[in-house]
Amino acid sequence: MEFFETGQRYRVDMMRKTMMRRLTGAGVLLLLAAGAWAAKKTGKPLFDGKTWWDHVKVIADDSMEGRETGSLGLRKAEAYAVEQLKRAGLEPAGTDGYYQNIRFVERQIDEKDSYAFLVRNGQADPVALGDQAYFSTRVEGSEQEVDAPLAFAGNGLEVPESSLDETAGLDLKGKVVVYLAGSPARVPGSLAAHYGGLAQRWKGYAAAGAVGIIAIPNPASMDIPWSRMSLNRAHPSMDLADPEFNEIAGLKMAMVFNPSSAEALFEGSGHSFAEIAALGRERKELPHFALAASVRARAAIAKIPVDSANIVARLPGSDPALHNEFVVLSAHIDHVGIGEPVNGDRIYNGAMDDGSGTAAVLDIAASLKLHPEQLKRSVIFLLVTAEEKGLLGSKYFVAHPTVDVKSIVADINMDMFLPIVPLKVLRIQGINDSTLGEHAASVATAFDVKPVPDPEPLRNLFVRSDQYNFIRRGIPAVIMDVFYQPGSPEAQVFRNWLTERYHAPSDDVGQPVDLQAAALYEEIVRRLLVDTANDAQRPQWKPDSFFRRYLTSAQTN
Ligand SMILES: [Zn+2]
Repeated sequence: MEFFETGQRYRVDMMRKTMMRRLTGAGVLLLLAAGAWAAKKTGKPLFDGKTWWDHVKVIADDSMEGRETGSLGLRKAEAYAVEQLKRAGLEPAGTDGYYQNIRFVERQIDEKDSYAFLVRNGQADPVALGDQAYFSTRVEGSEQEVDAPLAFAGNGLEVPESSLDETAGLDLKGKVVVYLAGSPARVPGSLAAHYGGLAQRWKGYAAAGAVGIIAIPNPASMDIPWSRMSLNRAHPSMDLADPEFNEIAGLKMAMVFNPSSAEALFEGSGHSFAEIAALGRERKELPHFALAASVRARAAIAKIPVDSANIVARLPGSDPALHNEFVVLSAHIDHVGIGEPVNGDRIYNGAMDDGSGTAAVLDIAASLKLHPEQLKRSVIFLLVTAEEKGLLGSKYFVAHPTVDVKSIVADINMDMFLPIVPLKVLRIQGINDSTLGEHAASVATAFDVKPVPDPEPLRNLFVRSDQYNFIRRGIPAVIMDVFYQPGSPEAQVFRNWLTERYHAPSDDVGQPVDLQAAALYEEIVRRLLVDTANDAQRPQWKPDSFFRRYLTSAQTN
């Protein structure tokens, strides 16, 4: 696999050039700062990896039962974390002491009471649930039967920046929108990710009067095969319970259709799914047209209330003017709980995902008590719940922040940073997006670690963990991971880890880890945290960053 594409190399070059320009401009200051880091680096290391690993061993112990959102196991892990944060001398900054309680709703499909038919010329053909299609429980659905004609909208995207509007001219009133997942190649990945989210899609479809959605995975780019996707449908989904978070009001039905059964949707339309799939394979633009069939369906979805909490602690800053500003250090403490046994083990311990980040939050908090450093701004230590359910705990936190959201200057997030090889290369997502990313790169360099941007921007990892919810409120953020040189033996170690241990019971404390790598990672994170708390300037988005769009004028200081 080719990890560094030409475009990516160009971005790295640009970054280097930008830094050179800064060196010749405000160069002296930057050099002095780099020198200061280098000096600190030669000082006594503040971390040994052992205290970090001790926290991981507790958080990922079998007795925590995989820390499923709402479970007793997660509560136990949270009680441990609160105890550690107290011991580190931090103040409670939740709504109930250190806790910020959140109400969730779990949704589970009852297929026995659900059905779907494709109706054409008065003839109703049953859709085999599981085999041919399944209902998404991401939507609340409707108690009533949905009976609506279908319209095919290509990839179903509206991307103004790319002058793409696939629903334009298509009559969607009272209809169900059918689309092929994915995007035309000419639409940049970040835009496709932004506009392809369910809430974003639904805004446009709802405005056009649509009532439902049928998504067909692109057979050329399915992450997992249909059989596994379909098995997952029995798994409950979770959402924030407060109605303010319902971004898909009016969406009565959402289905996912097996691409190998999708031909039935197109019958009689003058087009075939084979033709659509062929264009989709090339990521060409797709035609849009009314379909001949309608769908008659009802999804019986049971709703179960669930309670869980974020943990919020504060280390007050000392500067009279800046102590009311906050740098957030975050990780998610939840994982996926107990599930299908693999090699006789049913507990998905989540030692790396994200026991590693949680332990680093606790360990860095403790180190700031043991080796205090003056902090001008305050620091929020945040352990969120329900990340695995769709970044829900962090979504709640930024909607109901326990400090003024405008006073949050940055989020440094840690999620599965994988100290499984020596730390020589650090992947920094958001490296080119803000002065925070740029600063993170300088810190890494000062510790003799090579900073690299995400070599696989198409996977959109930057929007796949909790930092994204901060970004969406205009707050500069980074997430950093232990990484590798492309083509190196370490690259293989990572590939193996992802196949064998990611979201599997073997992501437990029996796995080999590199304590030195973890310690060095913590040194870098702590330095970035302290520098960000003390910098006279709060971090700024780069003018050309895609994510700058979320910065509202209210937040520009
Ligand atoms: Zn995970």
